[in-house]
Amino acid sequence: MIQQNMRQVEAAITSACEKSKRNSNDVTLIAVSKTKPVSALWEAYHAGARDFGENKVQELIDKIPQLPSDIRWHMIGHLQRNKVKYIVDKVYLIHSVDSLRLAEEISKEAQKKKVEVNILVEVNVAEEESKFGTTTEDTLLLIQEIAKLPAVHIKGLMTIAPFVENQEENRQYFRKLRQLSVDIRQKNIDNVSMNILSMGMTGDYTVAIEEGATYVRVGTGIFGERDYSI
Ligand SMILES: *Cc1c(COP(=O)(O)O)cnc(C)c1O
Repeated sequence: MIQQNMRQVEAAITSACEKSKRNSNDVTLIAVSKTKPVSALWEAYHAGARDFGENKVQELIDKIPQLPSDIRWHMIGHLQRNKVKYIVDKVYLIHSVDSLRLAEEISKEAQKKKVEVNILVEVNVAEEESKFGTTTEDTLLLIQEIAKLPAVHIKGLMTIAPFVENQEENRQYFRKLRQLSVDIRQKNIDNVSMNILSMGMTGDYTVAIEEGATYVRVGTGIFGERDYSI
C-alpha cells in the first residue's frame, strides 16, 4: 500500500512539474511519518524514500537508530528550546525556526556539538492564529538577526497553509511565500540562501509545486490517515 501511494505521489509531483515547466529533480518529497510505526517507515524506505519528516523530538530520537543511516531526517514541527540539544546533531534540516531565541539555542548547541545546522524560517503567511511561524512583515528582520549567529545557516522558508477543501485556496499563500523568498534573496544577506521553499502537504502539494515548492511534506498521502487515539 505504502509503495503504491509513493508511486502515486511521485507521479503527481512529476505531472505538476511538467505543468509548471519545472525540473522534477528540483522537488524533493519528504515522507511525513509522524505517529507511524517503524515498520511503515521501513516500507517507505524500501519504496525509495530517503527524506523523512517528524514533528516530535522524542519520536524522532526513538526512530533514528532503528532505521538506515542514509536517511535525511527533517524536523518539521514546533521545537521547544529545551529539546534542541537532543536533535541538533541528528537532523538534516530544521524547518520550523520562528524566533531568534530558538535560533540562538540551536547555535549554542550546534557549537557545543561541533556541527553546522541548516534551518528554514517558518512563516505564517496565512496569518492563522493557531499556527506557529513569524509574520510576513517580521521575517526579514528575523533573518537578518539569525544570519549573524555562528553554526546556523538559513537555507530558505517554510509554511503550513490552512486546511482547505479546495487546494486552489492556498495558491495565494504559496505565491506569497515564494515572493517573500525572492525579496529576501535580493538583499544578499551573508550566510543566508533562499534555495529552499518547504510548502505543500497531502491536500495541496501539487499547487505548491506549481508555485515553486522545492520540498513537499506528504504524510497521509503516503502512510494513510493518522490515528492519534493510540
Ligand atoms: C503532519 C504534517 C505534514 C503532513 O501532513 P499531511 O496532510 O498528512 O500530508 C506536513 N507538514 C507538517 C509541518 C506537518 O506537521
